[in-house]
Amino acid sequence: MSVTVVGSLNEDVLVRVRRLPGRGETVIGLDTVLAPGGKGANQAAAAGRLVPGVAMVGRVGADPAGDRQLAALTLAGVDVTHVDRAPEAPTGSATIPVEEDSGENLIVVVPGANAELQPWDAEVEPVRRAEVVLLQLEVPLATVAAAAAAATGIVVLTPAPPRPLSAELLARVDVLVPNEHELVQLTGAEPGERTAAELVQLARSLGPRTVVVTLGARGALLVPDGGPALLQAPPPVRAVDTTGAGDCFSGALAAALSGGAALPEAVGSAVTAAALSTTGPGARGALPDAAAVAALRP
Ligand code: ATP
Repeated sequence: MSVTVVGSLNEDVLVRVRRLPGRGETVIGLDTVLAPGGKGANQAAAAGRLVPGVAMVGRVGADPAGDRQLAALTLAGVDVTHVDRAPEAPTGSATIPVEEDSGENLIVVVPGANAELQPWDAEVEPVRRAEVVLLQLEVPLATVAAAAAAATGIVVLTPAPPRPLSAELLARVDVLVPNEHELVQLTGAEPGERTAAELVQLARSLGPRTVVVTLGARGALLVPDGGPALLQAPPPVRAVDTTGAGDCFSGALAAALSGGAALPEAVGSAVTAAALSTTGPGARGALPDAAAVAALRP
């Protein structure tokens, strides 16, 4: 495999509302849209659009929502042979009321089958043999650790949603991909704005490993294990929806690394892919293919 993702699959239930409800309040929704989601599956879909040989390891329920998640990933070119069906738990879901005018939202995640993904589920050939193993933190930490331990290729971890990581797990990670907020949480530093130089310092305080800090519209900061840090700005795009840009970034980074790209080149490619992903709706509405990324790269 080029890239194997071990992580979550969710069904996003997007409910358009005129105004978000307050505590104890009922509001009438305008409509409901079901969309494939979950950080793991979003990252797999992004990688699957860019390179062949992408596999997903995860768990969905034995329900129609599970069928929909498998179909969506297959459509993105991802091998779902190792996505198990859990008879005892429903497919994970995220219910998201979105305010029509402001775009503000609330999110309630029910992990469902994702919480049942066991360490031994990650001890499989697609993890052992992948050029890159791509991880996040929406499945049990013991499973993330087992995947990192079983990997023989490059281990890339997006530490989201933020949770304390054991030194043992961190030691197995080659490339850590936090956003600014996650980096601050990981290091235990005070929340607040940081200059690029301060972010480099925080990243280096995590030990000898490459850190790539995503910075939204400012692009991404590569802090390699040795050598100078490098800030890569995105190409100019008309961003309409940045949902899932971080997942596209991680998927594209893993895809580029699996093809043997050096870190600066891989980060450049991820910055370009993530920028393109913001030009359409939702987490997967505008995932670019390799030709679209190449067309925008200098
Ligand atoms: P999300 O949770 O929405 O997926 P995130 O907080 O994990 O995002 P960000 O740092 O916001 O991650 O975005 C990830 C990457 O996406 C950035 O490093 C950048 O390359 C790209 N990106 C995000 N927003 C924009 C934008 N407005 N224009 C261009 N590129 C963007």
